[in-house]
Amino acid sequence: SARHYSSEPSLQATEENGFKGHSMLAPFTAGWQSTDVHPLVIERSEGSYVYDSNGKKYIDALAGLWCTALGGNEPRLVKAATEQLNKLPFYHSFWNRTTKPSLDLANDILSMFTAREMGKVFFTNSGSEANDSQVKLVWYYNNALGRPDKKKFIARSKSYHGSTLIAASLSGLPALHQKFDLPAPFVLHTDCPHYWRFRLPDETEEEFSTRLANNLENLVLKEGPETIAAFIAEPVMGAGGVILPPKTYFEKIQAVLKKYDILLIADEVITAFGRLGTMFGCDMYNIKPDLVSIAKSNKLGSFAHGFTYSGHPVSCAVAVETLKIYKERNIVEHVNKIAPRFQEGIKAFSGSPIVGEIRGLGLILGTEFVDNKSPNDPFPAEWGVGSIFGAECEKRGMLIRVAGDSIMLSPPLIMTPNEVEEIISKFGDALKATEERIVELKSR
Ligand code: PMP
Repeated sequence: SARHYSSEPSLQATEENGFKGHSMLAPFTAGWQSTDVHPLVIERSEGSYVYDSNGKKYIDALAGLWCTALGGNEPRLVKAATEQLNKLPFYHSFWNRTTKPSLDLANDILSMFTAREMGKVFFTNSGSEANDSQVKLVWYYNNALGRPDKKKFIARSKSYHGSTLIAASLSGLPALHQKFDLPAPFVLHTDCPHYWRFRLPDETEEEFSTRLANNLENLVLKEGPETIAAFIAEPVMGAGGVILPPKTYFEKIQAVLKKYDILLIADEVITAFGRLGTMFGCDMYNIKPDLVSIAKSNKLGSFAHGFTYSGHPVSCAVAVETLKIYKERNIVEHVNKIAPRFQEGIKAFSGSPIVGEIRGLGLILGTEFVDNKSPNDPFPAEWGVGSIFGAECEKRGMLIRVAGDSIMLSPPLIMTPNEVEEIISKFGDALKATEERIVELKSR
């Protein structure tokens, strides 16, 4: 990981600085990292920037974890939280008791989601819980309809749906399964729709989409359509490397789902609320989902399921205010204004000898480092090329996400044109430094 290559000697654990590791079991962090390398401690935020405990400034090109769409310290959200904390810091939503912010937020969300008419909103505390809840809801639904065998879920390789037992099972990333006895047996995985990496020679995007839809249909037929409950997909795959659906993909996949009475769950945890340049990812790709998971850019007889903090009044008050700001400031319009330069500016580096593909839409972008510009020629894993790039960004005051030799950007939606230029320029400098490092590694 990037922290291994920290540019700050002071951050390395040494006898002199007395650092002996920290006491937190940190998420998605290797044990050796939290022992050998001082964590990067972020202390405060200002718009698109964050500052570490040494006062160093970073442009936050991942918006926290794809989530601080309005930047790190929007005063109106602080005010909304404070006011709600003063009035009613907590009440729950069980047994038809609830709070006004929860009701308001549910109304706002339903009125904003126009890709398909939705009936209800169910509040959870995280994207993982949202997707776990989707599974329970679908099972509850099929039990109510008297079809107890229709319980299997189909998800896609390289998808990310969260890290709880069921959400991790749905996810198609091997690291989330290995050593955890996952995926659960009711989860099946089908193809990742990554055209650049998985197409056959001479296959067009449309032909690739047709092949993937055929593979999905064959899987459904092999398992028995009466056993397949739902298909879950991110409109654009996020943590798997920012993978855009190939032309006609969702059209063809939805036709298969419809044919076999399989529900479609859109996981819009990253793509909801403007990131792609449309309010929802479903709008961008003409997706008509039965259920939708949303989160991040703010936050479904007796359905015996729910969380103590479902619809927490403070979170809901902040989310209501967030949606208000999106409308007042025409955030989607703003994204469409700055996104072309962001995409074009970074895609201009596609010619780099170490870049396989730069892909993205709106304010989300992924880059894959490969040798010889070929998806079949990865760099040796021990070189940690993605991590080298991540460390070079960090050195220059920019925070991004690294996953193997894929790196990802998802900056705040409120970025100014100057901040876009700063990201492009730092990306270019970090890329150059990474190229030089690879030349050096190859000459060894
Ligand atoms: N679904 C998607 C598409 C995500 O990107 C994420 C988080 N990045 C999740 C689910 C899980 O959300 P959380 O971390 O809040 O559990």
